[in-house]
Amino acid sequence: MDLMEKLVSLCKRRGFIFPSSEIYGGLNGCWDYGPLGVELKRNIKNVWWHDMVVGHDDLAVLPGAPSPYSMVGLDCSILMNPRVWEASGHVGGFSDPMIDCTESKKRYRADQLVVLALDVKEGPMVAFAEGDDEAQKGAEKRLAKLLKTKAPLEGLQIVPLLDVGKENFEKVVGPDVAKPGTLTEPRAFNLMFKTHVGALEDSSSVAYLRPETAQGIFVNFKNVCDTARVRIPFGIAQIGKSFRNEINPRNFTFRSREFEQMEIEFFCTAENADQWYEHWRERRYKWYVDLGLKSERLILREHCADELAHYASGCADVEYEFPFGVSELEGIANRTDFDLKQHMEYSGRDLQFFDDQIADKEKRRFVPYVIEPSAGADRATLAFLCEAYTEDEIGGEKRTVMKFHPKLAPIKVAVLPLVKKDGMPEKAAEIYRRLRKRWSVFFDDKGAIGRRYRRQDEAGTPFCVTIDGQTLDDGTVTLRDRDSTEQTRVAVDELEAQVAERINA
Ligand code: ATP
Repeated sequence: MDLMEKLVSLCKRRGFIFPSSEIYGGLNGCWDYGPLGVELKRNIKNVWWHDMVVGHDDLAVLPGAPSPYSMVGLDCSILMNPRVWEASGHVGGFSDPMIDCTESKKRYRADQLVVLALDVKEGPMVAFAEGDDEAQKGAEKRLAKLLKTKAPLEGLQIVPLLDVGKENFEKVVGPDVAKPGTLTEPRAFNLMFKTHVGALEDSSSVAYLRPETAQGIFVNFKNVCDTARVRIPFGIAQIGKSFRNEINPRNFTFRSREFEQMEIEFFCTAENADQWYEHWRERRYKWYVDLGLKSERLILREHCADELAHYASGCADVEYEFPFGVSELEGIANRTDFDLKQHMEYSGRDLQFFDDQIADKEKRRFVPYVIEPSAGADRATLAFLCEAYTEDEIGGEKRTVMKFHPKLAPIKVAVLPLVKKDGMPEKAAEIYRRLRKRWSVFFDDKGAIGRRYRRQDEAGTPFCVTIDGQTLDDGTVTLRDRDSTEQTRVAVDELEAQVAERINA
């Protein structure tokens, strides 16, 4: 089994992530978070909200930042007036080019890369690759196997599907198979989910499930300015669900049709936008490193000019080396004053910021620039899961351990009475109730202690507290560290402080 298969299986077995509506066969691109997964994902969102919003020091100048700034939050509705999506450009342009197979009824992204073998005596062959290097190697191997030769093959071309040409579709090599000669011309496929609001199902009642949370922030810009006493520069943050009818959902939760975003729109002056862009790139990259993603697997990639949206003057992706290839975790963009100006034009409202503390009257009213760090909560969760997954050996015994940062671990402490007698369960229950006031704590008194430790290792619980015979004599317990498996004796009265110190270390 490769790492991804092992991880998907652990997620299912231990209750991190399940396929959505599984008993009915599931729904492609949708996932449910189980008892451990919901805690993990919530911790990620809470740490983000804390670090970016409520725990942010409005008065401090952070490293790399030109000045202090404030941050406030927002929670907008998922359904909005459809004019929002006209103004944002989503109705007209939020689409992927798509090709349909009229036989198999499968859909393919026209820009998806495929491996094409033209100069083979069996006739042209196509193998679908998902785009990254690994998938391309896999596709080449499939072609080589069919031709009974060894990879690498000579004369292969890697081209987007739409450039293959019908005449080259004689044989398609699985597993993602289209029928030769039955592919339609590419068409623009809008990724927004449409629905109707109210009883009438006609064009007047169309609404969309939001494909990003950002627009809710832009359309509330004036409300926030009028109520929150903010001054430029400042940021508005939001966490919430977004929906995209992705043509090919894949790679577990990485590309889902329903997912959660953690977005910030940071408003500043045009003059300072480049500096703020630099600041947010560094700050967001560092956030992942501080929570345990190794920098050798984390890349901050600046987009080249031809990758930039027409309105953006800079964009960088934080990318992570997933087992299925290097892929985007978060995008940070300098979106200039494009969004606010679009909404001014479409709504007819004045969305300029008014700064009464600027002496120069001419400069008091202006449309700010915006820097947007846009992250996915599910992609972050998946990256932390991949990073945490470890197989090691303790005393000659193999174990699987999820090495989450203690701040993110779903369960912080497991409380384990060594045996179910001599007052140990009662003492353990007392400790459990005390710790539970502060953290998510798990009580387990079933089975051999070694097996109970293994179970907690798989759940990623950083600390196990064991109540044994000595506890009843001298009031100490053992505190076991998940990663080193080292145990230290700690007085019950000092337990809470010790755990708190280690979580925040
Ligand atoms: P991609 O190129 O991978 O489709 P994107 O560049 O379209 O992503 P953005 O529109 O910049 O993505 O969205 C910001 C963030 O939202 C992404 O960095 C990602 O973390 C998350 N996200 C976007 N689409 C999905 C999806 N289908 N499933 C899960 N997360 C997603």
